Amino acid sequence: AAKEGGRNSFQFYNDSFFEKVQRRVTLEQELRQALPRGELSLVYQPTVCLRHGNVTGIEALLRWQGPDGSLRSPVEFIPIAEDSGEILAIGRWVLAEACRQAGAWHEAGLQFGRIAVNVSAVQLRDPQFADDVLAICQRYRWPTDRLELELTESALMRDTEVLRRAFDLFAANGITLAVDDFGTGFSNLAYLHRFPVRHLKIDRSFVQQLSGDGERMRGLTQAVVTLGHALGMAVVAEGVETEITLDLLRQQGCDEAQGYLFTRPLAPEQLETWLRVQPG
Ligand code: C2E
Ligand code: MG
Ligand code: MG
Ligand code: MG
Repeated sequence: AAKEGGRNSFQFYNDSFFEKVQRRVTLEQELRQALPRGELSLVYQPTVCLRHGNVTGIEALLRWQGPDGSLRSPVEFIPIAEDSGEILAIGRWVLAEACRQAGAWHEAGLQFGRIAVNVSAVQLRDPQFADDVLAICQRYRWPTDRLELELTESALMRDTEVLRRAFDLFAANGITLAVDDFGTGFSNLAYLHRFPVRHLKIDRSFVQQLSGDGERMRGLTQAVVTLGHALGMAVVAEGVETEITLDLLRQQGCDEAQGYLFTRPLAPEQLETWLRVQPG
């Protein structure tokens, strides 16, 4: 690092900034090629009912194997795809691939409830988005009432014509909405009853502190469960890694859970194997 200060430090920060920009430009270019080069894939992670233990849904999560062979995290490349606009094409691909895969699993006689897809705020702002979603369901003959879209709180902050129309279309077709990473966003909760949200997903940063000493954390998750239920929603806990956490969530009346305790996100063939050994 440039802890020595002096003349060299300016040079150092300059280089470092330049490198950052360059890496970013390279990533952006590579990302544009990711779809045509077939570098994107989906892994799948189930949600489980805390009362009966059955699988209530499967979430599709995006993976990118870059041209250098490295596996890149969506946390790293989704924001770049959002900035460059590439997220629109990538998002359509994710939806199509998830619906195609869900259809194939359904054909194979597997029981898994809904398929859930993460949707960026940028996609939601696209006036074409809702029509695209319906067209994709139709193309893959996937029943719209078994599709859930996961949105973040920030995506729901603005109440626009485009959003209204999209949500009306979704509601009319039985497409459900989940608020993802709930608790990490804004404190203004007005959007919760403005929009037809079916599921609240408690962010894993809260869930994972449950089993610790935290009386306060326990209060927090309990409050989210109570709030969700009061608004007629089901509450899903993300990032459940231990039996202790699971028991606490069950005691708090949480409805569903997702996390490494059940399984990590899996490639399609592995998830199929996992599904086959689950209780009804
Ligand atoms: P998310 O939708 O909240 O997904 C949950 C993330 O938590 C996933 O990370 C998952 O692998 C991870 N996870 C699940 N269970 C556990 C656990 O027990 N412990 C821990 N430590 N982590 C767990 P992933 O796959 O890296 O995805 C990160 C985020 O990237 C997602 O968070 C979502 O916001 C975004 N993302 C993923 N796929 C897509 C996509 O197709 N489109 C968009 N717009 N965003 C996506
Ligand atoms: Mg999600
Ligand atoms: Mg989440
Ligand atoms: Mg999360």
